[in-house]
Amino acid sequence: MRLILLGPPGAGKGTQARMLSELGNVPQVSSGDLLRTAVREKTAIGVQVASILERGDLVSDDIVVKLIDERLDASDARNGFILDGFPRSPSQAELLAAMLNRRGAGIDRVLAVMVPDEEIVKRISGRRTCPNCQAMYNVTFEPPKKPDVCDKCGGKLYQREDDAEETVRHRLEVYNANTRPLLDYYTRAGILTEVDGVGRPEEVEKRMVAALDGLVPQERKHK
Ligand code: AMP
Repeated sequence: MRLILLGPPGAGKGTQARMLSELGNVPQVSSGDLLRTAVREKTAIGVQVASILERGDLVSDDIVVKLIDERLDASDARNGFILDGFPRSPSQAELLAAMLNRRGAGIDRVLAVMVPDEEIVKRISGRRTCPNCQAMYNVTFEPPKKPDVCDKCGGKLYQREDDAEETVRHRLEVYNANTRPLLDYYTRAGILTEVDGVGRPEEVEKRMVAALDGLVPQERKHK
């Protein structure tokens, strides 16, 4: 199963990608996570992109494509993957098509998680992330059992610098200008399904699975 999740920042792509990854037994490949890891580890790429991420602007295509291309070479991605955060523009969609072509593969389906802008701003300002296992919480909608402590691994939760309200509004503008055109792009390709992303994560999960129409099993082994 080769899947792309589209949608604005904060639509729940990360949460849904992790769930689908478990159901479909393929890895979640998140360009944002790859870039944040590079920043944290202060690699040459990390140093180059740190301020771009902080502002909420897009990193250049060649950098993101290099990271994704390397990630798709890993053995766990050979039979499929769930792309989250990439592609983010029509030019990246073309580069992805070329990358997959070289591997003799293609995208099976694109799910677009639809959430209105104002709901996004509300969600993201409450978002907290675990630096160790990338689990995500929301102080209002999905709080951890102990404040600021990850339920899964005990990591100390943090708020991403680019989750500040002003930066979120800027990221939404960047999404609308660069990424939204991909909805038309993949509709024309006949592989896009829009999914309502408003509601509890479990409700959205049901809609995602239904939209995949048999591509993944209905139930996870461990809830
Ligand atoms: P995300 O976690 O997907 O919201 O990504 C966080 C940040 O990483 C974005 O605001 C961009 O600065 C950068 N980024 C992630 N994916 C891409 C991409 N495909 N192209 C360019 N920049 C990206």
